[in-house]
Amino acid sequence: MKEKLFGKTLEELKLLVRELGLPAFTATQIADWLYRKDITTIQDMSNLSKKARGILEDKFEIGLTKPIQVQESQDGTKKYLFKVSGQNYIESAYIPELKRNTLCVSSQAGCMRRCIFCMTGKQGLLGNLSSGEILNQVKSLPEKETLTNIVYMGMGEPFDNFNEVMKSLEIMTSDWGFGWSPKRITVSTIGILPAVRKFLEKSSCNLAISLHSPYDIEREKLLPVERAHPASEIIEEIRNTEINRYRKISFEYIMFKELNDTPHHAIALAMLLSGIRCRVNLIHYHPIPGTPLGGTPLNGMERFRDLLNSKGIVATIRKSRGQDIDAACGLLSTKEVKLMP
Ligand code: SF4
Repeated sequence: MKEKLFGKTLEELKLLVRELGLPAFTATQIADWLYRKDITTIQDMSNLSKKARGILEDKFEIGLTKPIQVQESQDGTKKYLFKVSGQNYIESAYIPELKRNTLCVSSQAGCMRRCIFCMTGKQGLLGNLSSGEILNQVKSLPEKETLTNIVYMGMGEPFDNFNEVMKSLEIMTSDWGFGWSPKRITVSTIGILPAVRKFLEKSSCNLAISLHSPYDIEREKLLPVERAHPASEIIEEIRNTEINRYRKISFEYIMFKELNDTPHHAIALAMLLSGIRCRVNLIHYHPIPGTPLGGTPLNGMERFRDLLNSKGIVATIRKSRGQDIDAACGLLSTKEVKLMP
Protein backbone atom coordinates (compact mmCIF):
# COMPACT_ATOMS: atom_id res chain seq x y z
CA MET A 1 0.00 0.00 0.00
CA LYS A 2 1.25 3.48 -0.84
CA GLU A 3 1.99 6.05 1.86
CA LYS A 4 -0.33 9.05 2.06
CA LEU A 5 0.94 12.58 1.45
CA PHE A 6 -2.11 14.33 2.87
CA GLY A 7 -1.54 15.03 6.57
CA LYS A 8 2.22 15.57 6.34
CA THR A 9 3.65 18.79 7.76
CA LEU A 10 5.95 21.01 5.71
CA GLU A 11 8.92 19.72 7.74
CA GLU A 12 7.97 16.14 6.89
CA LEU A 13 7.57 17.03 3.22
CA LYS A 14 11.01 18.67 3.20
CA LEU A 15 12.55 15.52 4.61
CA LEU A 16 10.67 13.40 2.10
CA VAL A 17 11.79 15.37 -0.97
CA ARG A 18 15.38 15.34 0.29
CA GLU A 19 15.24 11.54 0.62
CA LEU A 20 13.80 11.27 -2.89
CA GLY A 21 16.53 13.52 -4.32
CA LEU A 22 14.04 16.18 -5.44
CA PRO A 23 14.73 19.95 -5.26
CA ALA A 24 14.02 21.46 -1.80
CA PHE A 25 11.36 23.88 -3.15
CA THR A 26 9.24 20.89 -4.21
CA ALA A 27 8.14 20.49 -0.56
CA THR A 28 6.39 23.89 -0.55
CA GLN A 29 4.83 23.14 -3.93
CA ILE A 30 3.44 19.82 -2.65
CA ALA A 31 2.05 21.47 0.51
CA ASP A 32 0.38 24.07 -1.68
CA TRP A 33 -1.30 21.38 -3.79
CA LEU A 34 -2.35 19.34 -0.78
CA TYR A 35 -3.76 22.06 1.44
CA ARG A 36 -4.58 25.09 -0.68
CA LYS A 37 -5.90 23.52 -3.85
CA ASP A 38 -8.23 20.69 -4.79
CA ILE A 39 -6.56 17.77 -6.49
CA THR A 40 -7.10 14.04 -6.43
CA THR A 41 -3.90 12.62 -7.96
CA ILE A 42 -0.19 13.38 -7.87
CA GLN A 43 -0.33 13.88 -11.65
CA ASP A 44 -2.53 16.95 -10.97
CA MET A 45 0.49 18.72 -9.38
CA SER A 46 1.15 20.46 -12.66
CA ASN A 47 4.07 22.69 -11.61
CA LEU A 48 6.16 19.68 -10.56
CA SER A 49 8.37 18.18 -13.24
CA LYS A 50 7.13 15.01 -14.89
CA LYS A 51 10.08 13.18 -13.36
CA ALA A 52 9.27 14.45 -9.84
CA ARG A 53 5.63 13.38 -10.20
CA GLY A 54 6.74 9.94 -11.35
CA ILE A 55 9.13 9.50 -8.41
CA LEU A 56 6.43 10.59 -5.97
CA GLU A 57 3.79 8.38 -7.53
CA ASP A 58 5.95 5.27 -7.14
CA LYS A 59 5.67 5.44 -3.36
CA PHE A 60 2.88 7.84 -2.48
CA GLU A 61 -0.75 8.72 -3.05
CA ILE A 62 -2.70 11.84 -2.04
CA GLY A 63 -4.79 9.92 0.50
CA LEU A 64 -8.12 11.75 0.51
CA THR A 65 -11.29 9.74 1.03
CA LYS A 66 -14.87 10.87 0.58
CA PRO A 67 -17.52 10.21 3.24
CA ILE A 68 -19.32 6.94 2.56
CA GLN A 69 -22.62 7.93 4.12
CA VAL A 70 -24.52 11.00 5.26
CA GLN A 71 -27.58 11.44 7.45
CA GLU A 72 -29.41 14.75 7.68
CA SER A 73 -31.30 15.98 10.72
CA GLN A 74 -34.54 17.96 10.65
CA ASP A 75 -32.54 20.94 11.95
CA GLY A 76 -30.05 20.80 9.04
CA THR A 77 -27.22 19.08 10.96
CA LYS A 78 -25.48 16.42 8.88
CA LYS A 79 -23.62 13.41 10.16
CA TYR A 80 -20.93 12.02 7.86
CA LEU A 81 -19.44 8.55 8.07
CA PHE A 82 -15.83 7.99 6.98
CA LYS A 83 -13.88 4.79 6.69
CA VAL A 84 -10.42 4.99 8.25
CA SER A 85 -7.45 2.65 8.58
CA GLY A 86 -7.81 -0.61 10.48
CA GLN A 87 -11.25 -1.25 8.95
CA ASN A 88 -12.67 1.32 11.36
CA TYR A 89 -15.32 3.99 10.89
CA ILE A 90 -15.63 7.46 12.34
CA GLU A 91 -18.26 10.18 12.26
CA SER A 92 -18.16 13.96 11.87
CA ALA A 93 -21.04 16.34 12.46
CA TYR A 94 -21.63 19.43 10.29
CA ILE A 95 -23.72 21.97 12.19
CA PRO A 96 -24.98 24.93 10.13
CA GLU A 97 -26.22 28.01 11.97
CA LEU A 98 -27.18 31.53 10.96
CA LYS A 99 -23.74 33.08 11.20
CA ARG A 100 -21.44 30.12 11.68
CA ASN A 101 -21.04 26.65 10.28
CA THR A 102 -19.20 24.28 12.55
CA LEU A 103 -17.63 20.92 11.86
CA CYS A 104 -17.20 18.59 14.81
CA VAL A 105 -14.29 16.28 13.94
CA SER A 106 -13.21 12.96 15.43
CA SER A 107 -9.66 12.28 16.56
CA GLN A 108 -9.96 8.56 17.36
CA ALA A 109 -12.04 5.58 16.29
CA GLY A 110 -13.81 4.82 19.57
CA CYS A 111 -12.32 5.91 22.88
CA MET A 112 -10.81 4.23 25.94
CA ARG A 113 -12.00 6.76 28.51
CA ARG A 114 -15.45 5.32 29.23
CA CYS A 115 -17.22 8.46 30.43
CA ILE A 116 -20.58 7.09 31.47
CA PHE A 117 -22.71 9.53 29.47
CA CYS A 118 -20.98 8.93 26.12
CA MET A 119 -21.79 6.46 23.34
CA THR A 120 -18.27 6.61 21.87
CA GLY A 121 -16.84 5.46 25.21
CA LYS A 122 -19.02 2.36 25.05
CA GLN A 123 -17.13 1.25 21.92
CA GLY A 124 -13.73 1.15 23.57
CA LEU A 125 -10.69 2.32 21.63
CA LEU A 126 -10.37 0.89 18.12
CA GLY A 127 -7.57 3.10 16.82
CA ASN A 128 -5.99 6.54 16.60
CA LEU A 129 -6.57 8.69 13.52
CA SER A 130 -3.58 10.02 11.63
CA SER A 131 -3.38 13.77 11.11
CA GLY A 132 -4.41 13.09 7.49
CA GLU A 133 -7.51 11.20 8.63
CA ILE A 134 -8.42 14.04 10.99
CA LEU A 135 -7.98 16.68 8.27
CA ASN A 136 -9.68 14.55 5.63
CA GLN A 137 -12.94 15.17 7.53
CA VAL A 138 -12.48 18.87 6.73
CA LYS A 139 -11.05 18.62 3.23
CA SER A 140 -13.51 15.99 1.98
CA LEU A 141 -16.58 17.63 3.49
CA PRO A 142 -19.01 18.65 0.72
CA GLU A 143 -19.71 21.90 2.65
CA LYS A 144 -16.03 22.70 3.30
CA GLU A 145 -16.20 26.11 1.63
CA THR A 146 -18.90 27.22 4.06
CA LEU A 147 -17.07 26.21 7.25
CA THR A 148 -16.32 28.90 9.81
CA ASN A 149 -15.38 26.83 12.87
CA ILE A 150 -13.84 23.47 13.68
CA VAL A 151 -14.25 21.74 17.02
CA TYR A 152 -12.37 18.62 18.07
CA MET A 153 -15.38 17.27 19.95
CA GLY A 154 -16.29 14.21 17.89
CA MET A 155 -15.27 10.66 18.63
CA GLY A 156 -12.25 10.16 20.87
CA GLU A 157 -10.19 12.09 23.38
CA PRO A 158 -7.90 14.36 21.32
CA PHE A 159 -5.13 14.36 23.93
CA ASP A 160 -4.94 10.55 23.84
CA ASN A 161 -3.79 11.06 20.25
CA PHE A 162 -1.75 14.15 21.03
CA ASN A 163 0.94 14.12 18.33
CA GLU A 164 -1.42 13.55 15.41
CA VAL A 165 -3.88 16.13 16.74
CA MET A 166 -1.07 18.69 17.12
CA LYS A 167 0.13 17.94 13.59
CA SER A 168 -3.38 18.46 12.26
CA LEU A 169 -3.60 21.80 14.11
CA GLU A 170 -0.27 22.88 12.66
CA ILE A 171 -1.51 22.12 9.15
CA MET A 172 -4.87 23.80 9.81
CA THR A 173 -3.29 27.03 11.05
CA SER A 174 -0.08 27.41 9.01
CA ASP A 175 0.23 29.76 6.06
CA TRP A 176 1.54 26.86 3.98
CA GLY A 177 -1.43 24.76 5.20
CA PHE A 178 -5.12 25.63 5.40
CA GLY A 179 -4.28 29.07 6.81
CA TRP A 180 -7.08 29.08 9.39
CA SER A 181 -7.04 31.40 12.38
CA PRO A 182 -6.54 29.45 15.63
CA LYS A 183 -9.39 31.55 17.04
CA ARG A 184 -11.81 29.47 14.95
CA ILE A 185 -10.59 26.11 16.21
CA THR A 186 -11.43 24.53 19.58
CA VAL A 187 -9.98 21.36 21.04
CA SER A 188 -12.15 19.71 23.67
CA THR A 189 -10.66 17.43 26.30
CA ILE A 190 -11.68 15.65 29.47
CA GLY A 191 -8.43 17.05 30.90
CA ILE A 192 -5.14 15.17 30.84
CA LEU A 193 -2.76 17.43 32.72
CA PRO A 194 0.59 16.95 30.91
CA ALA A 195 -1.15 17.26 27.54
CA VAL A 196 -3.13 20.34 28.61
CA ARG A 197 0.16 21.95 29.71
CA LYS A 198 1.87 21.12 26.40
CA PHE A 199 -1.13 22.24 24.36
CA LEU A 200 -1.26 25.64 26.11
CA GLU A 201 2.44 26.04 25.40
CA LYS A 202 2.51 24.93 21.78
CA SER A 203 -0.88 25.85 20.30
CA SER A 204 -2.94 29.05 20.19
CA CYS A 205 -6.24 27.27 19.51
CA ASN A 206 -9.12 27.47 21.95
CA LEU A 207 -9.45 24.92 24.71
CA ALA A 208 -12.63 23.38 26.14
CA ILE A 209 -12.48 21.22 29.28
CA SER A 210 -15.24 18.75 30.12
CA LEU A 211 -16.02 19.47 33.75
CA HIS A 212 -19.59 18.28 34.47
CA SER A 213 -19.29 18.65 38.25
CA PRO A 214 -17.39 20.91 40.65
CA TYR A 215 -17.04 18.01 43.12
CA ASP A 216 -14.25 15.47 42.62
CA ILE A 217 -16.10 12.39 43.95
CA GLU A 218 -19.13 13.15 41.81
CA ARG A 219 -17.01 13.95 38.75
CA GLU A 220 -15.10 10.70 39.12
CA LYS A 221 -18.35 8.76 38.76
CA LEU A 222 -19.05 10.55 35.48
CA LEU A 223 -15.50 10.76 34.13
CA PRO A 224 -13.11 8.10 35.45
CA VAL A 225 -10.17 10.32 34.30
CA GLU A 226 -10.75 12.43 37.45
CA ARG A 227 -8.83 9.82 39.47
CA ALA A 228 -5.59 10.32 37.49
CA HIS A 229 -6.07 13.97 36.51
CA PRO A 230 -8.27 15.87 38.96
CA ALA A 231 -10.11 18.81 37.41
CA SER A 232 -8.85 21.00 40.27
CA GLU A 233 -5.26 20.50 39.02
CA ILE A 234 -6.21 21.34 35.43
CA ILE A 235 -7.99 24.49 36.61
CA GLU A 236 -4.98 25.47 38.73
CA GLU A 237 -2.74 24.99 35.68
CA ILE A 238 -4.98 27.26 33.61
CA ARG A 239 -5.13 29.82 36.42
CA ASN A 240 -1.33 29.92 36.57
CA THR A 241 -0.78 30.11 32.81
CA GLU A 242 -0.66 33.38 30.98
CA ILE A 243 -3.45 32.95 28.44
CA ASN A 244 -3.36 35.04 25.28
CA ARG A 245 -6.45 37.27 25.34
CA TYR A 246 -7.56 35.96 21.95
CA ARG A 247 -7.64 32.38 23.12
CA LYS A 248 -10.96 31.19 24.52
CA ILE A 249 -11.09 28.82 27.46
CA SER A 250 -14.41 27.15 28.12
CA PHE A 251 -15.76 24.53 30.47
CA GLU A 252 -18.34 22.04 29.24
CA TYR A 253 -21.05 21.12 31.69
CA ILE A 254 -23.62 18.48 30.72
CA MET A 255 -26.64 18.91 32.96
CA PHE A 256 -27.96 15.77 34.63
CA LYS A 257 -31.26 15.96 36.46
CA GLU A 258 -30.90 16.06 40.25
CA LEU A 259 -27.26 15.10 39.97
CA ASN A 260 -25.22 18.19 39.12
CA ASP A 261 -27.91 20.84 38.62
CA THR A 262 -28.61 22.15 42.14
CA PRO A 263 -27.92 25.69 43.38
CA HIS A 264 -25.05 24.43 45.53
CA HIS A 265 -23.44 22.99 42.37
CA ALA A 266 -23.70 26.37 40.67
CA ILE A 267 -22.16 28.15 43.67
CA ALA A 268 -19.34 25.60 43.97
CA LEU A 269 -18.70 25.86 40.22
CA ALA A 270 -18.52 29.65 40.39
CA MET A 271 -16.02 29.42 43.26
CA LEU A 272 -13.91 26.84 41.42
CA LEU A 273 -13.66 29.01 38.30
CA SER A 274 -13.41 32.41 39.97
CA GLY A 275 -10.65 34.59 38.57
CA ILE A 276 -10.39 32.64 35.30
CA ARG A 277 -11.42 34.37 32.07
CA CYS A 278 -13.68 31.66 30.72
CA ARG A 279 -17.15 30.63 29.66
CA VAL A 280 -19.27 27.73 30.89
CA ASN A 281 -21.25 25.92 28.20
CA LEU A 282 -24.30 24.21 29.67
CA ILE A 283 -25.20 21.21 27.54
CA HIS A 284 -28.42 19.19 27.28
CA TYR A 285 -27.92 15.56 28.18
CA HIS A 286 -29.03 13.13 25.47
CA PRO A 287 -29.81 9.83 27.17
CA ILE A 288 -27.95 6.75 25.96
CA PRO A 289 -28.98 3.12 26.46
CA GLY A 290 -27.93 1.44 29.69
CA THR A 291 -27.14 4.65 31.56
CA PRO A 292 -29.56 5.62 34.35
CA LEU A 293 -29.16 9.37 33.94
CA GLY A 294 -31.73 11.96 32.96
CA GLY A 295 -31.33 15.43 31.54
CA THR A 296 -32.16 18.65 33.39
CA PRO A 297 -35.24 20.35 31.87
CA LEU A 298 -34.68 23.66 30.11
CA ASN A 299 -36.11 25.80 32.93
CA GLY A 300 -33.70 24.13 35.38
CA MET A 301 -30.81 24.85 33.02
CA GLU A 302 -31.88 28.48 32.75
CA ARG A 303 -31.99 28.86 36.55
CA PHE A 304 -28.51 27.31 36.78
CA ARG A 305 -27.21 29.63 34.07
CA ASP A 306 -28.68 32.70 35.77
CA LEU A 307 -27.16 31.75 39.12
CA LEU A 308 -23.73 31.32 37.51
CA ASN A 309 -24.10 34.65 35.70
CA SER A 310 -25.06 36.35 38.97
CA LYS A 311 -21.82 35.02 40.48
CA GLY A 312 -19.79 36.59 37.67
CA ILE A 313 -19.34 33.46 35.53
CA VAL A 314 -20.31 33.80 31.86
CA ALA A 315 -22.57 30.83 31.16
CA THR A 316 -24.68 29.97 28.13
CA ILE A 317 -26.94 27.07 27.19
CA ARG A 318 -25.74 25.34 24.07
CA LYS A 319 -28.46 24.60 21.56
CA SER A 320 -28.99 20.91 21.05
CA ARG A 321 -28.42 19.91 17.42
CA GLY A 322 -28.83 16.73 15.37
CA GLN A 323 -30.41 14.64 18.12
CA ASP A 324 -32.72 12.77 15.70
CA ILE A 325 -29.72 11.39 13.79
CA ASP A 326 -27.58 10.73 16.90
CA ALA A 327 -25.20 13.54 15.97
CA ALA A 328 -25.72 15.48 19.20
CA CYS A 329 -23.12 15.72 21.94
CA GLY A 330 -22.12 12.33 23.35
CA LEU A 331 -24.09 10.33 20.77
CA LEU A 332 -21.49 9.73 18.04
CA SER A 333 -20.76 6.05 17.76
CA THR A 334 -20.04 3.64 14.96
CA LYS A 335 -20.62 0.55 17.07
CA GLU A 336 -23.56 -0.47 14.97
CA VAL A 337 -22.62 0.95 11.60
CA LYS A 338 -25.09 -0.20 8.98
CA LEU A 339 -23.94 0.80 5.54
CA MET A 340 -26.55 1.68 2.96
CA PRO A 341 -26.84 -0.90 0.20
S1 SF4 B 1 -16.70 11.94 26.38
FE1 SF4 B 1 -14.86 12.04 25.12
S2 SF4 B 1 -13.27 11.17 26.43
FE2 SF4 B 1 -15.21 10.55 27.34
S3 SF4 B 1 -15.64 8.52 26.45
FE3 SF4 B 1 -16.64 10.07 25.16
S4 SF4 B 1 -15.19 10.50 23.51
FE4 SF4 B 1 -14.06 9.51 25.19
